[in-house]
Amino acid sequence: MKLIIASNNAHKIREIKEILGEKFEQILSLRESGIEHETVEDGSTFLENARKKAKEIAKISGVCALADDSGICVDALGGAPGIFSARFAGEHGNDEANNALLLKRLEAEQNRAAHYTCAMVLAYPDGKTVEAEGYFYGSITRCPRGDRGFGYDPLFVPTGSERTVAEYTDEEKNAISHRAEALRLLLSKL
Ligand code: IMP
Repeated sequence: MKLIIASNNAHKIREIKEILGEKFEQILSLRESGIEHETVEDGSTFLENARKKAKEIAKISGVCALADDSGICVDALGGAPGIFSARFAGEHGNDEANNALLLKRLEAEQNRAAHYTCAMVLAYPDGKTVEAEGYFYGSITRCPRGDRGFGYDPLFVPTGSERTVAEYTDEEKNAISHRAEALRLLLSKL
């Protein structure tokens, strides 16, 4: 089965390809499949946004599409930035600015608990979907550490660990991340 990942985020695509392994004959990113399409992410949940992205790309391409919508939810901020994680500081995908703003918002805060959420949706060209969610629990550090991963990884310390996810190897992250959990659950439903 051929699969298009409804994303151009190179980090996410690499993680998803590594987790999926040999499960599909061919896995293409949006760019590799020649599709130029930007889904308007106007849903109010991770699942709504992922479903919309996957369904649009499956319809346009005529093959199965897998979409991930993910972000970090911080307890002391009432779950923010949540679905707005990629553009927390204004500019979409500016990880450095997003991380700086998160640290600033938590400056005087003792409760550092947070979790990543990932909604993963596989859509078939006929509009049918298979859906799953995964979570990754931990806390927010006071200074960024590590240069692996992406997004909020230099600030996120998984429960029971002393390292940030940006200090994890790819294999370590992909064994326990929200994306890995969502994908495993989704595959078990196929
Ligand atoms: P999306 O592309 O709309 O799903 O936005 C995802 C955003 O959430 C990213 O830009 C990151 O800021 C954050 N995020 C999601 N998953 C991760 C992760 O595994 N590590 C670090 N940040 C993540």
